[in-house]
Amino acid sequence: MIATPIARIAVPVPRRQTFDFLVPAPLSVRPGVRVRVPFGARRLVGVVIGIGTDSELPVARLKPVAEVLDLQPVFPPKLLATLRWAADYYHHPLGEVLATALPVPLRRGSQVEPRRAQTYCLTEAGLAFDTTALGRAAVQQRLLALLRAAPWHRLQPEQCHHVSPSWHRAMAALVEKRLVAIDQAPVPSAAAMPPASPVTLNAAQRAAAQTILASLGGYQSFLLHGITGSGKTEVYLRVVESVIERGQQALVLVPEIALTPQLIERFRQRLDAAVVVLHSGLSVSQRHQAWWSACSGAAAVVLGTRSAVFTPLQHPGVFIVDEEHDTSYKQQDGFRYHARDLALYRAKLEGIPVILGSATPALETLTNAANGRHRGLALPARAGAASLPRIHLLDLRRTATDDGLSMPLIAAIRQRIERNEQSLVFLNRRGYAPVLYCCQCHWHARCPRCDAKLTYHKRQHQLRCHHCGHQASAPPSCPHCGHGSLINLGEGTQRIEESLGTLFPQATILRVDRDTTRRKGHLEKTLQRVHEGEADILVGTQLLAKGHDFPNVTLVGVINADQGLYSVDFRAAEHLFQQIIQVAGRAGRADKPGDVLIQTWYPAHPYFESLLAHDYAGFAEITLTERREAHYPPYSYFVLLRAESSQKRAAIGFLDFAREQALQVTQQTRSKGVLIMDPVPAPMEKRAGRFRAQLLVSAAHRRPLHRVLTSWLQRLEHSPRSRKVRWSLDVDPVDLY
Ligand code: ADP
Ligand code: ZN
Ligand code: ZN
Repeated sequence: MIATPIARIAVPVPRRQTFDFLVPAPLSVRPGVRVRVPFGARRLVGVVIGIGTDSELPVARLKPVAEVLDLQPVFPPKLLATLRWAADYYHHPLGEVLATALPVPLRRGSQVEPRRAQTYCLTEAGLAFDTTALGRAAVQQRLLALLRAAPWHRLQPEQCHHVSPSWHRAMAALVEKRLVAIDQAPVPSAAAMPPASPVTLNAAQRAAAQTILASLGGYQSFLLHGITGSGKTEVYLRVVESVIERGQQALVLVPEIALTPQLIERFRQRLDAAVVVLHSGLSVSQRHQAWWSACSGAAAVVLGTRSAVFTPLQHPGVFIVDEEHDTSYKQQDGFRYHARDLALYRAKLEGIPVILGSATPALETLTNAANGRHRGLALPARAGAASLPRIHLLDLRRTATDDGLSMPLIAAIRQRIERNEQSLVFLNRRGYAPVLYCCQCHWHARCPRCDAKLTYHKRQHQLRCHHCGHQASAPPSCPHCGHGSLINLGEGTQRIEESLGTLFPQATILRVDRDTTRRKGHLEKTLQRVHEGEADILVGTQLLAKGHDFPNVTLVGVINADQGLYSVDFRAAEHLFQQIIQVAGRAGRADKPGDVLIQTWYPAHPYFESLLAHDYAGFAEITLTERREAHYPPYSYFVLLRAESSQKRAAIGFLDFAREQALQVTQQTRSKGVLIMDPVPAPMEKRAGRFRAQLLVSAAHRRPLHRVLTSWLQRLEHSPRSRKVRWSLDVDPVDLY
């Protein structure tokens, strides 16, 4: 008798193990397919990892798989291997990793192919029909009118909801009368427009593109280090064109889709191919559709944020990670992966090139280019007629300011308005003022749930916490001493917007920050208005710094560059430099030269020397020397164990215990060179009512570090103490908060 096969199955539960199930005939499975399995009292959707004939458990105790959900694997072998590696590397339960990588309906067991959304189309009869003949059927009349006004006389169900709650019945009546026909929504098709005429690549772009093209068909990682406006996107487009010609697909990762409507537009217009977009702003079914287009091979290009790195592709040809230094590629909760690092690993398995593009590469990436792991490609000059902006420092110790704006900056903005050019004012703090203060007793408004000050929001006359979302109306007088007038200290984007409005009453000022962009589509609209030349001044946070191409912006003002110069986070200076170079890169991108004015209290800080010279390499060299001396990444590997609890001492107490365990494990496994620090309170200890602490573990080499982590986590998980606090492990943390 032939033994019943046994499948090892990853199930979405927080356990770092797989589970064995029987696969009784006539069922059959392959690695990467989904199955439904009994799990305790529940039935869960799991993924088959492997098939064998034995188990650590007695076969009699194994339960059979209840249902096989897929014929073909939803995770092709190389993607599955990448995800298994990621689960090991980030020490996260494989079942949860795989669930994260799937569209929501598939996690619940839906079939891989989404049901196509229905489309309603007007028939010839419907077009010619005299609507008055519908009499009092008002909803039918309105639907017909809407269809007549719609592009190609077609409507999706979601476009009909607002007509009436009973639109369904009315539409069915119209279908009955043959005025409307039901059609299946089309698969994403190639751009309707002919490709726009491509620019002629300059010598540096051509060289970069040719080097990458020569590597198609095999693994190679590239760092495309091109200054802002040097034409990196043109290089991507050239490479993607060739990949499509070869019948393959390109996966392009970008930091935040909402910020890159232009990039999507450029890809759609220039490529004679189907481009699908994947990001968190889509509905669940839209995401599923896009995932399926990629998976089935219908989409030639997949453009998406972090989690798009998990998209299965029928014929992968190239991976591109744009703005690879961007910290949004690191997932900050749950499965804390880095999408760039996953893209590198996956590209290697797939045997295809991967391009990391940036004007300000992460220091890790620069180091990997220097040691030959990545091949470096440089675009050292701006494309076309554009030149780099001039950067000037404004010494806040010596110039008077008016609500945060210094006189030279005000004068420069005035000049731009007179010349009909645009200015961009950058400030990484939303709200009106970061401190509400009583000058009588020195009281200031603090969040009751966090170790943080409350930010004053003027329009709503509210105090808000930017860390936990706490809101309260602002007190009319000091709650401590009763003094009648409280003052706003410091400035946020709202206050800068207000003072610019007073200074330049005729000017159109647009503000862009998380407060103004909460509504869907608002950011896109604002950016559109900027492009149409409607805005004179743009005020905003780092949302403005990323990737936009504003040809008429010739002045960038940085209100305060000093946060980050003296921060507790060792990466703060790197992130600040990247941000300023990026925001400065918005100035003078066309034929008009640009100026960047940076207000600072510390003009003599050595940091600014490299910044004024646009010398990112120089900055990187100095910073890397410091990191080497301090044994910081990239010269060592960091892992952070975080814990939090509503009890003040519990988090630190747990970490003390965890440290003991770690020391025992390093001894037992004789792992040399793994350093276990003392637990410390987080830089902001209390947040949203919970006390937080962290424990840093570092090592010069990965192997002993991961050996220690594996046994350490097992011990922690099996200890009852681990259930008293909330804790998580962060491998390669991007910030130490
Ligand atoms: P990056 O991605 O490096 O910031 P882009 O690819 O967006 O740069 O290019 C910046 C601007 O320069 C765009 O408006 C683009 O159309 C233009 N550009 C790029 N390459 C060329 C070229 N070879 N000739 C003329 N203009 C170019
Ligand atoms: Zn007071
Ligand atoms: Zn708070």
